[in-house]
Amino acid sequence: MAEILIIGGGVAGLSAGIYAQLSGHHATICERQALAGGNLTGWQRGDYHIDNCIHWLTGTNPKTALYQMWTELGALGKVKVHQPNTLYTYEEGGVCLSVHFDLDKMQEELLSIAPEDEKEIKSLIKAVRAVQSFKKLSGEKRNVFLRELQALPRLFRYYRMTTGELAARFKNPYMQGFITSMLGEDFAALALLIVFATFCGGNGGIPVGSSLAMAKRMTTRFLNLGGTLMLSKEATAISEGETGVQIVEFSDGTMLTADYVVIATEPNVAFEKLLGEAMPTDMDKRYKNPKMPRFSSIHCAFACKTDNLPFHADFIFKLPKKEQAALKTENLIIREYSHEKAFAPEGETIIQSLTFCNETTCREFIEMRKNPIKYRAKKKELAQIIQNAIERKFPQLSGKLQLIDVWTPATYHRYTNAEIGSYMAFLLPSKTLPKKLNNLVKGRPRVILASQWLQSPGGLPIAAQVGKDAILRINQKEKIKKSI
Ligand SMILES: Cc1cc2nc3c(=O)[nH]c(=O)nc-3n(C[C@H](O)[C@H](O)[C@H](O)COP(=O)(O)OP(=O)(O)OC[C@H]3O[C@@H](n4cnc5c(N)ncnc54)[C@H](O)[C@@H]3O)c2cc1C
Repeated sequence: MAEILIIGGGVAGLSAGIYAQLSGHHATICERQALAGGNLTGWQRGDYHIDNCIHWLTGTNPKTALYQMWTELGALGKVKVHQPNTLYTYEEGGVCLSVHFDLDKMQEELLSIAPEDEKEIKSLIKAVRAVQSFKKLSGEKRNVFLRELQALPRLFRYYRMTTGELAARFKNPYMQGFITSMLGEDFAALALLIVFATFCGGNGGIPVGSSLAMAKRMTTRFLNLGGTLMLSKEATAISEGETGVQIVEFSDGTMLTADYVVIATEPNVAFEKLLGEAMPTDMDKRYKNPKMPRFSSIHCAFACKTDNLPFHADFIFKLPKKEQAALKTENLIIREYSHEKAFAPEGETIIQSLTFCNETTCREFIEMRKNPIKYRAKKKELAQIIQNAIERKFPQLSGKLQLIDVWTPATYHRYTNAEIGSYMAFLLPSKTLPKKLNNLVKGRPRVILASQWLQSPGGLPIAAQVGKDAILRINQKEKIKKSI
């Protein structure tokens, strides 16, 4: 059995660690932060808990293969799952359109607001149902080959479109805004259908306790299986000894050796910083492909009373032009956490905002953070703009929001080492299938990649799967037959 050293204790690293232990190896996870989980995290600000990650967790439906994986990883199983009635509501000019859990209700609502788009709306809903019948996309265990075959032509139409192109097919302006409000205009339309299908299929709920609680459960699972976790341990270089032994150096001046190293960080860190070599061509192409940009976001958290909360789950609205310019985005996404009683004192909850940033804006924040006074002032300015926008949208919240925290792409950059603070992989454009890149490193047979960056658009299930894939690769090399 092999000694495996895993660099990075996010979901990919934890998954690799758990599957290594289940395969009979011994795994050590080295994580540079004081906590495992990576982006799957949350933090405390006084009496309030801020959740960083889960908007929806694909794989909460017990009938799916993904659920089985989450259960093996200790992430799901005995945990209660919160199922919101809506994934998000888009509001413009007083008109609200929601992604309802109930697809019939969603179709009815969309048709009542945009009867002129009946054909497109019905086609969209049929395509969502087609995705639900698709085994590979829904993660279903049973064989549904015939249903899949029938679904293909319906999906092919959307495969060729971006979300912006899909929106342009609707005549009704509210429908156009609804389609692009969550993922923007450049994502593959198919990705949006997958999100809708996942949520409406009861396969995208939120485990109670959300991100930090899930990270802690996965960490406990790893430790209970006998794995070793080293926190505040930042790897700086990986080399190979004469006998093939892998030598990892750390920022604290220590060194560890292992039979295999699994790198569960952004490839940028893996190649340029740790291995000291150029990025492989196929990965480098993704970094340079303008159709596959990375993104991050700015967030604010506000405390507020729960009585008369004017919206539920995620709520998206168009900002006035001046605020669009200041925030460099068209829409403001806000969500409330009243379903999580432990996140705030009784009678209160947290409202969090999210505004997406492109690569240029991310770099500006990372640069600005080098000047703490300027960075702090910018965060204060942004928080005020966001608070004003929320209070104008919901006058009943006026004077009732208390700012708890503000974080930016620079926060994600500092926390996870990701170059521009991106927390998903490359954007998935249209006419592209989410092809997984090879997890091997040329000339380094005992170094395996386990990174969400191997498959667009990333996300928790992909991180968990690539962690498992890395161990399957090692098992193959070690000729271990045991199935995991
Ligand atoms: C606001 C937000 C909302 C999200 N919503 C969702 C959602 O609803 N559903 C979903 O599926 N996904 C969501 N995601 C994405 C999800 O969080 C990520 O896809 C996932 O956590 C990636 O896991 P990972 O292990 O690949 O990477 P990371 O979480 O980035 O983990 C990498 C780890 O490596 C560590 N590391 C880096 N360099 C070193 C080094 N040199 N030495 C040691 N350790 C190192 C980092 O500290 C980090 O802990 C969201 C993310 C954010 C931020």
